[in-house]
Amino acid sequence: MEGKLNQELKSSFDHAILPLTSLTSGKCVEVASHIYCLCIKIVNVCFIGNPIETSEWILIDTGMPKSVNHIMEFAESRFGKDNKPKAIILTHGHFDHVGSVIELVKKWDIPVYAHTLEMPFLTGEKDYPEPDGSVEGGIVAKISPLFPNEGIDLGKYIHELPLDGSIPHMPEWRWIHTPGHTPGHISLFRNTDHSLIAGDAFVTVKQDSLYKVFTQEKEINGPPRYLTTDWQKAWDSVKKLQELNPKAVITGHGLPMFGEELKDSLQHLVTEFDKIAIPDYGRYIK
Ligand SMILES: [Zn+2]
Repeated sequence: MEGKLNQELKSSFDHAILPLTSLTSGKCVEVASHIYCLCIKIVNVCFIGNPIETSEWILIDTGMPKSVNHIMEFAESRFGKDNKPKAIILTHGHFDHVGSVIELVKKWDIPVYAHTLEMPFLTGEKDYPEPDGSVEGGIVAKISPLFPNEGIDLGKYIHELPLDGSIPHMPEWRWIHTPGHTPGHISLFRNTDHSLIAGDAFVTVKQDSLYKVFTQEKEINGPPRYLTTDWQKAWDSVKKLQELNPKAVITGHGLPMFGEELKDSLQHLVTEFDKIAIPDYGRYIK
């Protein structure tokens, strides 16, 4: 019975009864040369490619369920009709990052890459721990038990990222293991100009506040609280990213951040992580 109820609750999430969206939904920003960040409702999707020099492009993450049309429309306007990406790279497998991946790979028939430790959640072997509605935080944290936590099965489409840190079809980039939010969470870093795609290793909006998610008011935060299970690893991951000295960042949620603002905010987050990011109470607090 409880299972059935959960299903019903989750399908009401699916049908967008919950008013989770933002003022920047549908807006796209070219964050650095040939890196496009598209906000769909409350989550960012990245398109990497130079349509003038080459027709090749890559998609990073796939947003929430029902984002396929938004993604296809933007891709067509930027990279041309019937020009599918070379691959999809996943920062991690949470529902708001893989929501449209199954539909997209069925349409495009292309490989998907993720970290080895994220594989169990992408091959149907394991579910993520349930979101923690009891964690210290705002309304989004309270309703988070409605969010799906089930793993998905990408079957033959899913591949492990190369162990040497390289990313297929992205020669200027490397992946960085940034666990804590999930075991196999990765960030992507472009060596040539220090651009960073950080997934949910940290975010630039207070993701547990319904109001701030809607307005997208800029404010550096740790990973979304209700889904983060290892806070020490999450802290170490943020330190690792700060040491890379990023000049521009796209996080999974919130607006892009640049230059001095990014530098100062990251320094603040690293120093005060126990106060800013780690909740005072919750199921995953030791
Ligand atoms: Zn996440």
